[in-house]
Amino acid sequence: MFRTVLIANRGEIACRIARTCRILGVRTVAVYSDADADALHVHACDEAWPIGPAPARESYLNTDRILEVARRSGADAIHPGYGFLSENADFAEACDRAGVRFIGPPASAIRAMGSKSAAKSIMQEAGVPLVPGYHGDDQSPEHLQAVAEEIGYPVLIKASAGGGGKGMRRVDDPQDFGDALDGARREARASFGDDTVLLEKYLLQPRHVEVQVFADGHGNAVHLFERDCSVQRRHQKVIEEAPAPGLSEDKRRAMGEAAVAAARAIGYQGAGTVEFIMDAHGEFFFMEMNTRLQVEHPVTEMITGEDLVAWQLQVAAGAPLPRTQEALSFSGHAFEARIYAEDPERDFLPAIGTVAGLRTPEENRHVRIDTGIREGDTISMHYDPMIAKLVVWDSDRSAALLRLRNALQAFTVAGTTTNVRFLDRIAGHPAFADGGVDTGFIETYRSDLFPAPTPPSDRVLAVAALYELLSVDQAAAERARGSADPWSPWHATDGWQPNSDNHHVLHFLDGDNDLEVVAHYRRDCFLLDLPGGTVRAEGTLAADGRLRVALDGVHLDARALQTDDRLRVSIAAEDRELVIHDPLAAGMADEVREGSLTAPMPGTVLQVMVNEGDHVEEGAALMVLEAMKMEHTIRAFVSGKVDKINFREGEQVSEGAELLAIAAEE
Ligand code: ADP
Ligand code: ADP
Ligand code: MG
Repeated sequence: MFRTVLIANRGEIACRIARTCRILGVRTVAVYSDADADALHVHACDEAWPIGPAPARESYLNTDRILEVARRSGADAIHPGYGFLSENADFAEACDRAGVRFIGPPASAIRAMGSKSAAKSIMQEAGVPLVPGYHGDDQSPEHLQAVAEEIGYPVLIKASAGGGGKGMRRVDDPQDFGDALDGARREARASFGDDTVLLEKYLLQPRHVEVQVFADGHGNAVHLFERDCSVQRRHQKVIEEAPAPGLSEDKRRAMGEAAVAAARAIGYQGAGTVEFIMDAHGEFFFMEMNTRLQVEHPVTEMITGEDLVAWQLQVAAGAPLPRTQEALSFSGHAFEARIYAEDPERDFLPAIGTVAGLRTPEENRHVRIDTGIREGDTISMHYDPMIAKLVVWDSDRSAALLRLRNALQAFTVAGTTTNVRFLDRIAGHPAFADGGVDTGFIETYRSDLFPAPTPPSDRVLAVAALYELLSVDQAAAERARGSADPWSPWHATDGWQPNSDNHHVLHFLDGDNDLEVVAHYRRDCFLLDLPGGTVRAEGTLAADGRLRVALDGVHLDARALQTDDRLRVSIAAEDRELVIHDPLAAGMADEVREGSLTAPMPGTVLQVMVNEGDHVEEGAALMVLEAMKMEHTIRAFVSGKVDKINFREGEQVSEGAELLAIAAEE
């Protein structure tokens, strides 16, 4: 076994790898960018070395610097995690040359699978079924369009070098083919520096079922069953599970065998994932092979009881696979929900900000949390905005689903927008409970998953009010302890004010709605006037924001987290952020932004479609912005005249910058 492993990654996966190394008694070396100097992964390792500025290109992708750290820290192996250098064949070779073991497959296997086009040719030869399509060399738009016609619409244009859902465009109408091809190429060039594309028949509402494979340097190859990753947004996974619901034993065996054949065809070693797409009839086709540890590997660990990172280390160190195919089995069911700082309501736009408050469910044998973030950490624009992976296991799917819901409801993040409630709505959807998953799930159930906004319930308002009143109480008690006259009426918090009756008026803003709660002080409780009537409220507030409240005698557990003037209140499935409105401080909060014409986050202007003076209709595309490696189209929110264009193509914009101005017509 290795003595020292350098982990060339950050965030949750770096922490995850460090955990297994610790169990195996392997020393760990972390690397960090300037933005991550105090990150959790730095503290999770025995040593941590700086490798450069925040942008990944200058730090986590800086192979020379990473190899230098490996040499100077005495590392005998490098684990690349996922993303970054994990599928970089040149880096794997550079490791070999430097005499450091790359914990991953041979460079030749990475290269063979790095191009989706070349991978498909190899798989075709190995007899692995493929989606009908074109992965040839003729890349002229005319030829591609003619091939698309042959395949039959809808078709999917994919970046051959693609990953993370980028550089993909579905085309339903031949008329849109040209634009879609340009878009896919542009994104592919920006993300991968290679704009080769392939075409596939677009399967309608397919399932994404992938198989975990493992091979060693002694000719052994096994699979560790499958994962279903069908619930996706923008072709990226949202909730994954193992085993795939409703898969027959025969199908499972067939897929496992096809995956092992794929791994053997390229002389694979280490952990890999063969991704298949499955049509409505249960036919499955090879999609791509990811030559690394996958984000969602924990669900496989939960059902098999194996530690895949330990397997990776053992295989890389030259040992045979820990188990044969016959010795592998699985039990129960596991889910993983990816918790991201992003806004589902704004097409899953990544969010940035400080995780000012973080409350997570208790970890035990049913609940596992893989994270690289702790309270107070910042989600920056430089890296993937993942906050945590929430993983649950139980003896069957419905029991595991219940665990998932409970754990999601106990997960509260304050300070940044997240997808937690959205995940909970998916987990709570009857169609999901039935196991009816396909890649169109989110679209199909859009109206249920994005319910129209409703005002906060009286319960939420009552908890917000109680939180306010109790924290004022606590602050006053603190003051009184330090005061010469603890009985002074100025420390009293029973609403006592000179020349006033004992009540207090609280205001909470929910969007533009100003909600008023009048709290009347009674000896042992408050009477709260809420929109739906008056409620008798009592409660105690713990230091971590947990509130035990009784509303008209009904006891509830709630959580409240305050950051500045924002109060996040969660009670079971309800989770709301309210602004505590202090009428005295008002007047400052009037920065109503016409959101659509400002930059949603820092980025680069890719394209400007209009000129000053142009007349545009509501909804017209005005500008394309690239931010966090994704394209965002800025559209007109009213019809009118383009008054001013503040940025040109290629220019950088900061968050909130006004990109252009439109004079609305009457
Ligand atoms: P797949 O290749 O099937 O999409 P994963 O979902 O495991 O497999 O992750 C894909 C890769 O894309 C990973 O290497 C991950 O680091 C990266 N990735 C995932 N989400 C994002 C994101 N929002 N932005 C940039 N990269 C991402
Ligand atoms: P990436 O490298 O970005 O992970 P994949 O080729 O694995 O790219 O595809 C990502 C997702 O896109 C799949 O999980 C699936 O949901 C969808 N997809 C891919 N190919 C097809 C297809 N031919 N028809 C329909 N959906 C597809
Ligand atoms: Mg994929």
